[in-house]
Amino acid sequence: MGNVDNFSIHKLFGVAMERTAAEIWTECLCLIQQRVTPQSFTTWFKPVEAVKLEGRQLTIQVPSQFFYEWIDQHYRSVIEGALSECLGDGARVQYAVVVSDKHDPLQPPPPRAVPRPASTNGLLSEQYTFANFVEGSSNQFAKAAAIAVSEAPGTTAFNPLVIYAGAGLGKTHLIQAIGNHAIAIGSVRRVCYVSSEKFTLEFINSIQQNRTTEFSANYRNVDLLLVDDIQFFSNKERTLEEFFHTFNTLYHSGKQIVLTCDRPPRELHGMEDRLISRFHWGLTVDIQVPDYETRLAILHKKADQNGLDLPEEIFEFIATHVTTNIRELEGSLIKLLAYSSLTKTEITLDAAKRVLRDICVPKKLNTTIEDVQRIVAQKFGIPEDMMRAKSRKKEIALARQVAMYLAKMHTNSSLKTIGLHFGGRDHSTVIHAINLVEKLRKKDEGFRQTIDDIAQKIRLPTP
Ligand code: ADP
Ligand code: MG
Repeated sequence: MGNVDNFSIHKLFGVAMERTAAEIWTECLCLIQQRVTPQSFTTWFKPVEAVKLEGRQLTIQVPSQFFYEWIDQHYRSVIEGALSECLGDGARVQYAVVVSDKHDPLQPPPPRAVPRPASTNGLLSEQYTFANFVEGSSNQFAKAAAIAVSEAPGTTAFNPLVIYAGAGLGKTHLIQAIGNHAIAIGSVRRVCYVSSEKFTLEFINSIQQNRTTEFSANYRNVDLLLVDDIQFFSNKERTLEEFFHTFNTLYHSGKQIVLTCDRPPRELHGMEDRLISRFHWGLTVDIQVPDYETRLAILHKKADQNGLDLPEEIFEFIATHVTTNIRELEGSLIKLLAYSSLTKTEITLDAAKRVLRDICVPKKLNTTIEDVQRIVAQKFGIPEDMMRAKSRKKEIALARQVAMYLAKMHTNSSLKTIGLHFGGRDHSTVIHAINLVEKLRKKDEGFRQTIDDIAQKIRLPTP
């Protein structure tokens, strides 16, 4: 069989004979590459090496715990599918987590030759920690990536890490948490947090004072550079030039860079493409508007932190009406706190409504859950008692969810009460309904119009 190559022998017998782990993995990669996006392939498969092959079990080596969790959760079936094609049915993947470059984030950092406390130029605010950052589906990925880079700065594939989101959604909190955590666990020696405005001002000053060398050295001599709100760099040509060189220097010496932005980097104007393309070398993640459940959780957390004990209805009331900005959620609580300490009174739902009247949609007095159910049932063309029935039919379930959402918006009822009026359902079912309707409303213009029409009808005085 001298002229038959190894590969065809293996094919012939349908088993892996002397093929090495690396060869199998290379074959798998060819298959995987056709099945995932190019970005996923670069991020999650390029850094992976195969280390061991035992029977039909291939062990692959990944660079961090986070990496392992992510790849296992999202790509296990893709990997095992490819493996089965190469090794036969029942092939399995195993992982070895090896952090080789700097240190294992799960282990304490190695002792340093010259022990020095970590230092930061630029101020990090202590309250911005990962522990204080409430996690929800809107920010889960961004938070996980942030934790990963702060534990192993410069050694993950997430360099630079770019976090983008609208105003008040937690960019500054998250980027500062990276710095705080990195200092706390000692994964870096020098951290620098700076807003792009401050960077610009300092740079201009340094030009005027003939101290640009000092300026450059200052920013190029850190292990972790955190730059907040890079959109303000737009059209600042000389500053951008300086930033470009800072970026290159740090990147090429394996230092971690984290940036935040109020829009996806590709939508930045007034910056050269060569810079914008660098932002995509690592990982770009966004933070979405939080869903209802997350808003409630954030309110509870902030109230706890401020020693503010409020009736549940008030949390629900705020979470229902402040929907797109976490800073405003917080603002509402602070207003209540101020009110109660000034008047030395307990905060009731009615008082909260008066204090927060600017956040409410105008509503008709005394709307009942039954009113809402009747109007929604009419609009969807289903019998009203279906609102309380157990039916899981799609149209009926949706009508019911819409009615739960509108009941929360237009009556004073608590989640619990609303649940009871819908055939004795649990309050978490109502939360789920609100999350779902908010999501559909955002996605589907026609749906939004329908909901607004019904809301209009609920607000209208009955003749
Ligand atoms: P941005 O920089 O995106 O405008 P910030 O980071 O300043 O937003 O966040 C606004 C406020 O909301 C801050 O007080 C922050 O602590 C808070 N915040 C944002 N996201 C969360 C979250 N997931 N959990 C707890 N607080 C949050
Ligand atoms: Mg900010």
